[in-house]
Amino acid sequence: MSNPPASFDRVHDLLIIGGGINGAGIARDAAGRGLSVAVIEAGDLGGATSSASTKLIHGGLRYLEFYAFGLVRKALAEREVLLDIAPHISWPQSFVLPHSPEQRPEWMLRAGLFLYDNLARRKVVPGSERIDLRQDRAGGALAPQWTRGFRYWDGWIDDARLVIANLQDCRDRGGLILPRTRAVRAEHDGSVWTVTLGDGRTLRAARIINAAGPWAESVARSVLGRNDAPALRLVQGSHIVTRRVHLGRDAFMFQQPDGRIIFVIPYERDFSLIGTTERDIDAPEAAHITEDETDYLLNAANRYLARPLTREDVVHRFSGVRPLILEAGKGDRETTRDYKLVEHTGVPAMTVVGGKITTYRVLAEDVMKRIAPTSRPWTATAPLPGGTVDRLSGETGQDAFKRWLTNLTAAEGNYDPKLIKRLAMTVGTATEPMLANGLGANIGGMFEAELDHYVRNEWATTADDVLWRRTKMGLHIGNSGKAAVAAWFGESAPPPVEDLPVTHRFATPGL
Ligand SMILES: Cc1cc2nc3c(=O)[nH]c(=O)nc-3n(C[C@H](O)[C@H](O)[C@H](O)COP(=O)(O)OP(=O)(O)OC[C@H]3O[C@@H](n4cnc5c(N)ncnc54)[C@H](O)[C@@H]3O)c2cc1C
Repeated sequence: MSNPPASFDRVHDLLIIGGGINGAGIARDAAGRGLSVAVIEAGDLGGATSSASTKLIHGGLRYLEFYAFGLVRKALAEREVLLDIAPHISWPQSFVLPHSPEQRPEWMLRAGLFLYDNLARRKVVPGSERIDLRQDRAGGALAPQWTRGFRYWDGWIDDARLVIANLQDCRDRGGLILPRTRAVRAEHDGSVWTVTLGDGRTLRAARIINAAGPWAESVARSVLGRNDAPALRLVQGSHIVTRRVHLGRDAFMFQQPDGRIIFVIPYERDFSLIGTTERDIDAPEAAHITEDETDYLLNAANRYLARPLTREDVVHRFSGVRPLILEAGKGDRETTRDYKLVEHTGVPAMTVVGGKITTYRVLAEDVMKRIAPTSRPWTATAPLPGGTVDRLSGETGQDAFKRWLTNLTAAEGNYDPKLIKRLAMTVGTATEPMLANGLGANIGGMFEAELDHYVRNEWATTADDVLWRRTKMGLHIGNSGKAAVAAWFGESAPPPVEDLPVTHRFATPGL
């Protein structure tokens, strides 16, 4: 997995600051077009915003209220693409939207859903329908006053794994990936950039892309020495993970009296993911979920649920920071979720800000249009590592993956099908060699071969990388399991306190 030392000597075509989804997507696309690429990430790859999202590949039904048709259309079309190229870590997800007359009028919802169904071509994602919650399978999860609603579809994706898959592909195409390495200073001598890293080493590159997410404005200023990056508004969004609120597969979209909406999504088999909030903060490092946000999310869900949640049901919490582009006179909800590419004056450098997990691939294509206009787009039809299963003619990525998993489960009859499914929906095709070579010792509920894989192939260096980002096993194994994984990494065991609640703070070491 390691990159050859010679990579430090050459002048890279492209150096990307930030190994979140935007940096990773650009890196993959550029490497596939023959550019030599280096990615510098201060913390764990995908360790900041790109592992703290709601994990939806969605057009954003609510953005229609702000007439953001262009953004919604772009994102809706991307749902089909991502479901196809990353079938091992994504799936179509149904959403039930309960409705009562005092909320947004029904005609408005019908019109919005009609647009949502028809703004972009759909192959895998079904259309919306009106439902009677007294008869429908989802109704049982809801308090009896919720009798009417709609079901519509979007996609779900493992955000942190999407970052890793993109970077694996970049690496396999010759890219240099440097996690836990901070870009400190970049100087341009008229022809080449020299970038000084946190450990004192330097890298040279013809062009820099600043994809530092919530840090993009400060990296433009303090690393690149530029004042022409767009001003950012940093808005914290928090999630709680609770016991699963119902056994069905539907997610819920709950409208709130303050006009906001929250999602309640089936998560990691046994849990529900509930989010999100909006809270202005001054610096990305300041982000952490507050007790008020936890209460807000519990209350927001309890307005609808048949069996209300309590504090005791919360097993995990996390926050991320939306780097929104400042737009005069607009509130949080109206501020665009679209991205902006800013070419800095006088030097070959670009700052990328805003965007969504959903649109990372088109963002990367837009970047390439600017910096390598004669090269051809290729990522829309190229499955990501882990999702490269053989397809029958005309078969979708989702169907091919299901067929592959059924065959693998039949062929590996000695293993528990649930374990095969867990691995397959994490590392995809890398499950095959793992099972064939044997999984090795059980380390607190994970397997040695699995941990080895995350270290050798996915840049994991700490127990947290594995427990909360390469997998979400942190939710499934108790403190003794986590301590065993920590010990495997040579870390001293985390303090043996009670299992719940765990606060997973958004933090990037060294920033
Ligand atoms: C609460 C919340 C919910 C969301 N839900 C969704 C959703 O459901 N669907 C969707 O499509 N989008 C969603 N989004 C948006 C999406 O998560 C973001 O648009 C996306 O993750 C941004 O990725 P990024 O690569 O720009 O930033 P990041 O993932 O933050 O990556 C930037 C990286 O730059 C690194 N960095 C900073 N400074 C330096 C430096 N000096 N040197 C090296 N590295 C540096 C950081 O460590 C960081 O890892 C959500 C966002 C939030 C906050």
